[in-house]
Amino acid sequence: MLLPEPIQNLINALERLPGIGPKSASRLAFYFLRADESLSSELAEALTGLKEKIAYCSECFNITEAGRELCEVCANPKRDASIICVLEDALDVLALERTGAYQGRYHVLGGVLNPIEGIGPDDIKIRPLVERVARGGIREVILATNPSMEGDTTAMYLQQQLRSTGVHVTRLARGLPMGGDLEYADQSTLLRALQGRQEMD
Ligand SMILES: [Zn+2]
Repeated sequence: MLLPEPIQNLINALERLPGIGPKSASRLAFYFLRADESLSSELAEALTGLKEKIAYCSECFNITEAGRELCEVCANPKRDASIICVLEDALDVLALERTGAYQGRYHVLGGVLNPIEGIGPDDIKIRPLVERVARGGIREVILATNPSMEGDTTAMYLQQQLRSTGVHVTRLARGLPMGGDLEYADQSTLLRALQGRQEMD
């Protein structure tokens, strides 16, 4: 082996991260070697037990701290509980929150329908959304799945499922790049898509 085992192990682990190739992994590993010890220990501490320290909101399935029943948005009485914005994952909540313009609540699906990968309606949080809307008190559901084939398919499926509840269903306006991800959309584009949301029928 060309490199000492400890650094090779770190490179191997870093290479498994999304968007990190062998070169970046090596560069990062050598950066840690040169950097102050506190960087490594802070990172190690943040990673250790990360999954155990995170829980999912019982209302909207957004992430929250372990031991908490509701996420910050659902626990905030100032947020409008009559509007639900439906998103693919918790990272999209961050994107919407960054616009600073959305005052409603969320529902995080935890994925999208994808028949090729075998992901069906029971594999994501569709049923809890329909039940939540059916309980009443909701005047609008904004379908904000990503502008991709799977995102559109999921939105259409949700619309059908929600039809019996009689709730007003809208979809984010076009303008977001097709195949793109909400999480990467710039704030003004996302804001325009939110403000220009359209009736689904
Ligand atoms: Zn929540």
